[in-house]
Amino acid sequence: MSTPETIRQPEPQPATVATRAGLATDPAYRAVVPPIYLSTNYAFDDIDQRGPFDYSRSNNPTRQILSEALAQLEFGQGAEITSSGLGAITACLHSLTRPGDLVLAPHDCYGGTWRLLDALARRGVIRLELADFTDPGLTESIERLRPALVWVETPSNPLLRITDIAAVAEASHAVGAQVVADNTFLSPALQNPLRLGADVVVHSTTKYINGHSDVIGGLVVAGQAERAEDLRWWCNALGLTASAFDCYLVLRGLRTLFPRVRAHCDNAAHVVAAIAGHPALTALHYPGLADHPGHALAARQQHGFGAMISFDVGSEAAARRFLGGLRHFSLAESLGGVESLVCHPGRMTHAAMPPQVQAAAGLTPGLLRLSVGVEQAEDLAADLLAGLDRALA
Ligand code: PLP
Repeated sequence: MSTPETIRQPEPQPATVATRAGLATDPAYRAVVPPIYLSTNYAFDDIDQRGPFDYSRSNNPTRQILSEALAQLEFGQGAEITSSGLGAITACLHSLTRPGDLVLAPHDCYGGTWRLLDALARRGVIRLELADFTDPGLTESIERLRPALVWVETPSNPLLRITDIAAVAEASHAVGAQVVADNTFLSPALQNPLRLGADVVVHSTTKYINGHSDVIGGLVVAGQAERAEDLRWWCNALGLTASAFDCYLVLRGLRTLFPRVRAHCDNAAHVVAAIAGHPALTALHYPGLADHPGHALAARQQHGFGAMISFDVGSEAAARRFLGGLRHFSLAESLGGVESLVCHPGRMTHAAMPPQVQAAAGLTPGLLRLSVGVEQAEDLAADLLAGLDRALA
């Protein structure tokens, strides 16, 4: 008969890892939920004998529970939690580029990423090339340009274009380039870029990972321990690491990531089915639609189609009519919280991009982006249909 020691159990599934991160590990009182460690500093035994923690910018027990769980969920060898998604992106640029290096990025990446890359390029810190990452000639461009760093964001923001991570990683590695994937739009529940060949993953944890729109935060995870150490070094040196309080909240959000994301995805599929074919729509972007150009690729490299949708109502005037009177979608930046949101990318999230850059990226004045929340799907669909009727008027 097998003893408890000899009964082999399978490794816990990701949803279990997310929910149980750090539970029941408190050595002091056996608290089930790990307590928050707000102390900025930790006592030394002697001047040359420090404990596992010394100063919270460098390391903190609450942050460590979160970073270890997220490294595991992204199949990485180490992670750091930053005070914003842009903090994580900043850490990558310091760790992975040297002065004058070429960075290749998608022309429709998040506006804040573009703003940072563009500002650094203008100062001569890096060189920047923007490209359409859905172009079949992308791998040839990588061979020709020989960048040091290839920045991937898939699905892209706001047009939900899908990039083939494995193909980009193969072409990039062939010329010695590193690949960073911004996985914010899907979360580790729906896509794991390190498993597809990316070297580093970044997230704005502000979005799905926290999921409650009450923390600004970021995450950087590396596939190799040495790279993870270097990223952590830069996060500490630049002062990018997240506070214990923010980590505590994100850890609480993480516990429900998988069921939340399931509900988000179901609702998105429901509202797309309800609004598809409405005469006010000149375009509908959602990778779950069979006629979306990235549908087959998304089905292959993602574990679900996500809950971000964008559509075009033809003009800014029509977009304004759509927005006036919505009941269950708040007009606001950001995404990935339990509440449904709508934004006008051209005037809001991507306003830092000048009009010609927006036009090149395919951002039109009638484009609206939805982050579908976990409210009752029928309420969301009815709200959108009423808005589309107004847009037509
Ligand atoms: N990456 C993507 C795809 C985003 O949408 C955002 C923010 O909207 C960021 C990065 C930046 O994250 P944060 O706002 O947490 O700095």
